[in-house]
Amino acid sequence: MEQKSIAGSCLCGAVRFEIKPPLAGFRYCHCSRCRKATGAAHAANIFVPQSQLTWLAGEALVRRFDLPGAKRFAVCFCTQCGTRMPHKIATTENYLVPAGCLDASPEERPDGSIFWGSRAQWYVETQALPKHEEYK
Ligand SMILES: [Zn+2]
Ligand SMILES: [Zn+2]
Repeated sequence: MEQKSIAGSCLCGAVRFEIKPPLAGFRYCHCSRCRKATGAAHAANIFVPQSQLTWLAGEALVRRFDLPGAKRFAVCFCTQCGTRMPHKIATTENYLVPAGCLDASPEERPDGSIFWGSRAQWYVETQALPKHEEYK
């Protein structure tokens, strides 16, 4: 059965888009650039062909930053709330979609962690951590 489109949005809700499965890739990236860009231990990056992404609202609010000197590293973000938004990858026909901005779950699961050797020294695999339902 064909999977339904998956909506995505930023924190303030001004920017909305949807992607159509199947995904071209889904992985965690531990590189130092992704850590900076997300503020997190690793990015959760989904890849979909350009033809499978549709902007629904607020595209004009999205600003792009191409990292000087990088072949393809870029980030797009909502200028109202700073949330990372999808961006077209310079060297491929794919968009990179930050998985955390999706409003529903795709059927696919991440198939790997890349730049593992670059991971933050403080990174602890989450299986090793006690789990709490809310703030602690
Ligand atoms: Zn926003
Ligand atoms: Zn990365």
